[in-house]
Amino acid sequence: MRDLKRVRIKVKGIVQGVGFRPTVYKHAINNGVFGFVMNTPEGVTIEAEGPSHLVDAFIKDVVESPPRISRVTDVDIKSIDPEGDLDFKIITSIAVGSKNVEISPDIAICKDCEREILDTKNRRYLYPFTNCTNCGPRFTIVKDRPYDRKNTSMSEFVMCSDCLSEYKDPLDRRFHAQPNACPKCGPKVFLLGKNKANKDPINETCKALIDGKLVGIKSLGGFNIACNALDNEVVERLRDKKKRGTKAFALMVKDIDTIRKYCWINEKEEKILLSRVAPIVLLKKKELSLDHISKDNNYLGVMLPYTPLHKILFRDLEVLVMTSANRADEPIATRDNEMSELMKEGFVDMVLSNDRDIINRCDDSIVQVVDGAVFVIRRARGLVPSGIRIKGTNDHNSMSMGADLKNTFALKKGHTVYLSQHIGDLEDQRNIDYQREQIEEFIRIIEVEPSFKNIDAHPNYANFNSSDKKVFHHHAHALSVMAENDLLGQEVLGIICDGTGYGTDGNIWGFEFLKVLKDYSKFERIFHLDYFALPGGDKASHELDRLAVSLTEHLGGIDIPGLSKKRADIIKALIRSDINCPMCSSLGRLFDGVACLCGISTIASYEAQAAIMLQKYAEGFKGQVREPYPSTIKANKVDYRPMIEKLVLDINSGVGKEELAYKFHLWVVDSIIEVINRTTPGKVAFSGGCFQNSLLVSMLNMRLKGYSNMDIYFNNDIPTNDAGISFGQSVI
Ligand code: ZN
Ligand code: ZN
Ligand code: FE
Repeated sequence: MRDLKRVRIKVKGIVQGVGFRPTVYKHAINNGVFGFVMNTPEGVTIEAEGPSHLVDAFIKDVVESPPRISRVTDVDIKSIDPEGDLDFKIITSIAVGSKNVEISPDIAICKDCEREILDTKNRRYLYPFTNCTNCGPRFTIVKDRPYDRKNTSMSEFVMCSDCLSEYKDPLDRRFHAQPNACPKCGPKVFLLGKNKANKDPINETCKALIDGKLVGIKSLGGFNIACNALDNEVVERLRDKKKRGTKAFALMVKDIDTIRKYCWINEKEEKILLSRVAPIVLLKKKELSLDHISKDNNYLGVMLPYTPLHKILFRDLEVLVMTSANRADEPIATRDNEMSELMKEGFVDMVLSNDRDIINRCDDSIVQVVDGAVFVIRRARGLVPSGIRIKGTNDHNSMSMGADLKNTFALKKGHTVYLSQHIGDLEDQRNIDYQREQIEEFIRIIEVEPSFKNIDAHPNYANFNSSDKKVFHHHAHALSVMAENDLLGQEVLGIICDGTGYGTDGNIWGFEFLKVLKDYSKFERIFHLDYFALPGGDKASHELDRLAVSLTEHLGGIDIPGLSKKRADIIKALIRSDINCPMCSSLGRLFDGVACLCGISTIASYEAQAAIMLQKYAEGFKGQVREPYPSTIKANKVDYRPMIEKLVLDINSGVGKEELAYKFHLWVVDSIIEVINRTTPGKVAFSGGCFQNSLLVSMLNMRLKGYSNMDIYFNNDIPTNDAGISFGQSVI
């Protein structure tokens, strides 16, 4: 044949354990080309030959139609000499996986598997561990590389002959699906502490939920506690046990139509809910619906059933609270003995467990959509351990330890950063242990030995040694957006609206305007919120009247709702004495103090509660602002005092809480705009925990529309809160 051509195609990324070779095989058969496909330590290598137009058509198919769940990061195509192959083969003898092959995150159940488990004639009818190369557990069952059944918690289950023949058939959807299983050979559900021969544990679980019981359910990355969300009594019982105050619970809802009964949902949100990540999505709730689930805000965190077990359960259910099984802030439970403890302590009445071990603990991911942009608030199930490629840095391998609250860590390997799942608050020793375990696990499955460590610059940072590199908290926030958007090496104005972090002058920073230089390891603080005292240090973030007194100190004595004169005097004395009274420029604390002055909240029982409530009030304001609060900049400081003065006047003249809250939001936006006008930056990177406030983001977006020669960036795939700190640190 005159026109004969042979190519070698090397594909990198998440290309193993995702049905890549069978897909290539089908493309080869369809196009009539010969050759082979195989896994290599680097990814997948394909050689194909035939008439050149057929080879070209084959290449097009491989590039444009890879398997739905693969993630190709690199394709390299070379022409080589034809060898005269007469068929197309999948070569399976070469060792699978190693060096640069990424382990896939867990994937929500696919349409094909869903059809099978609901088909009475299928051998997997109602089988809760059904999966295929397009879906099922991955990261949460992996112990080691390469990704092979023997290195997962499926190793103890021996495939039956039916499963094995699927596993070996290149044209089967389960070809090399490592967790492949069926009712005959795979894992089984059972009720903990009850006779394992119980005929129908799922049905009994369903009945208990309908009866108003609290039920532990083993999911992919840990146990959840579930209960009927429409039953206020059982929800209150759960709040009480978890010492949850009024903090919102996540929901699992049967399907999109059922979600529509309770929430407003747009096309983008629907798409994310139905995606293979299947995260919790924050949706605006319809008037008063399920208000007892999220009392402090206007949103509900909602996810769809994402495993076959959930699908089977939800045949007879509509809306469940689905929260992590743990006491207050400890890591999510993954083992039966932990659940037995929780059952003894009355957290759950019953536990639906199974005999497939969870290797890597992983909570649910949380996402919100604001003005069409996707914000990942918590990266966990479905997203971890995917690597994130960054440009403009060196290729050092490093470990970044993140922040103390909402901790994540990040492992950098060359130009790829692997951000860990949500670990939690490191105040709790169990979370410190969890972090340590996961670091070891990441080093093993990503196969990299970090050569140094990045840590927060706080002088009290525990266990550091001299080779560690210190990164300031808000610098790391700015770097997280910059790295995510390929801005490293350019001068960028980082605008950080945050809770607290240690600053270069030893004060506690939070509302910062940082010029990050071309050498991005350096920054200049060009503007910041003027300092106010935090009487009692950390105590001031729970007892908000301390902040209210501090913010109004310059006005002399004013009446603060719910605050006795005696207590006010003690707080004032504390400020004057300067004992345990650090200075801060935190926007988070300003939100808290303003919420207290407005009479919205005096005690915060969980992080950011007052700010969340302030947002809810502001969203309730329907009128027109006649006189906005003055945004005042003196020297390089945003002065809050003139705003506080006007706010107090408004309060005294009986202006409603909704309007007060809205005008405060507007003041924050005006202050940001004021600084932008003075500095005329070309690129602005917004980050920090306050941008979880979707109203603030929307108001800012609106005002920034007029700035056509300025580029604006937010965090999207990386959390804007402290869970993104380790990612920002990792570029140093
Ligand atoms: Zn499937
Ligand atoms: Zn089987
Ligand atoms: Fe922060």
